[in-house]
Amino acid sequence: MFESLSGRLQSAFSKLRGKGRLSESDVNDAMREIRRALLEADVNHVVAKKFVDAVKERAIGQDILQSLTAGQQVVSIVNDELTRLLGETQAKLERSAKPPTVVMMVGLQGAGKTTATAKLGRFLATSEHRRPLLVAADIYRPAAIDQLVALGQQIGVAVWAPGAEVAPAEIVRTALDEARRGGYDYVLIDTAGRLHIDELLMNELDQLRQLSEPEEILLVVDAMTGQDAVTVAQSFHEALGITGVVLTKLDGDTRGGAALSVRHVTGCPIKFVGTGERPDALEPFYPDRMASRILGMGDVLTLIEKAQAHFDEDQAKVLEQKMRNNDFTLEDFLTQLQQVKKMGPLDQLMGMIPGLGGALKNLPQGGMDEKPLKRIEAIILSMSPEERAKPELVEKSSSRRVRIAKGSGTQVKDVNQLLRQFGEMRKMMKQFSAMGKGGKRSMANLKNRFGA
Ligand code: GDP
Repeated sequence: MFESLSGRLQSAFSKLRGKGRLSESDVNDAMREIRRALLEADVNHVVAKKFVDAVKERAIGQDILQSLTAGQQVVSIVNDELTRLLGETQAKLERSAKPPTVVMMVGLQGAGKTTATAKLGRFLATSEHRRPLLVAADIYRPAAIDQLVALGQQIGVAVWAPGAEVAPAEIVRTALDEARRGGYDYVLIDTAGRLHIDELLMNELDQLRQLSEPEEILLVVDAMTGQDAVTVAQSFHEALGITGVVLTKLDGDTRGGAALSVRHVTGCPIKFVGTGERPDALEPFYPDRMASRILGMGDVLTLIEKAQAHFDEDQAKVLEQKMRNNDFTLEDFLTQLQQVKKMGPLDQLMGMIPGLGGALKNLPQGGMDEKPLKRIEAIILSMSPEERAKPELVEKSSSRRVRIAKGSGTQVKDVNQLLRQFGEMRKMMKQFSAMGKGGKRSMANLKNRFGA
């Protein structure tokens, strides 16, 4: 995410940090560099200028230049201002006092609106324990209806889809009836998109707005489109009065311009970000955490939340016990591996670890190489349950090693390597097991420590 911008900012900071006391011209140089980095990241030029002016004013006005930690303090001001630019505090989804809460999802075709509707449904159902009803009101792109129905099935969330022959207003009217009758507390309407903004589209959306009186009109925009995303947001806001933005495709090669400009230009907060194609690739947007990620300082809180959402507490306890007793098997290792994979692509996870964000820009195109993990998984899957429980059986028998290598499409040396690494790991676990508790409890402690 925003690797190039991150890299440029960090290089500007390293010059400041290395200096101790700073002169006004040091600050001016750094701000010039930051401004250039922002413009290159496709940040709106007015936003970029206001941003560096604000940082400069605070840095020079506060008498910090002569302090020995001047560089550090300037970085901290940049962090504050970036957080402010991104919206200061998290903007939660509004809820109606009288359910159902209606959320209209709007946006141009291809922005990821249908996907985001399903993702939001999944988020409300799993993280907030709500009962959402998804409404297929995009009748112009026939595939949109099928797509929403399929996604609904996949995530176990109800979809109201009377079909492409029914007028959108009628679909919405009947959906609201259904929601009241069925006790749904959220109605998420996937509205029609177009390739470009046109009056017809806005009229239809306005009609649906008057009919459904939504608490939220969320505009879904593609972060990859940079400044265009901001122009689109402005038009939608003028026509409909949007209440928030869902920024999609942040997992792609986005430069950051849309994320950094959209709040300032429209005055509307980013409420969620999409970080992948899967229905679980949606994160609530936290300005402070995003600022921290952009500045290469990681995002430990999101990482912990992901781990908590994907790790099963009972299973964690069992594993912890196994590690203590030193009977952690290859089968357990496989389970762990598969759980980590569920948390998301490795390079996204690494970007959340403080200090590792910068290392990511050296990765080859297409992200981190997940092949070794797949290889390990294939090798373990080719073992019998007995072999997984007692790796020494494999260690002792070359015919077993050959069979497993063949079965997993790997080489005997890969099998040997895995056995060796696993042996080392067990040794380490034995040492660690005396040192304290793992699992979810210590995650909670960690979270407390980070003040969440
Ligand atoms: P709509 O026309 O706005 O309804 O767009 P869709 O929901 O059909 O999405 C268009 C394409 O973008 C699909 O191929 C989605 O899988 C993809 N997509 C949506 N959100 C994301 C995201 O956050 N990351 C990535 N990588 N792809 C996304």
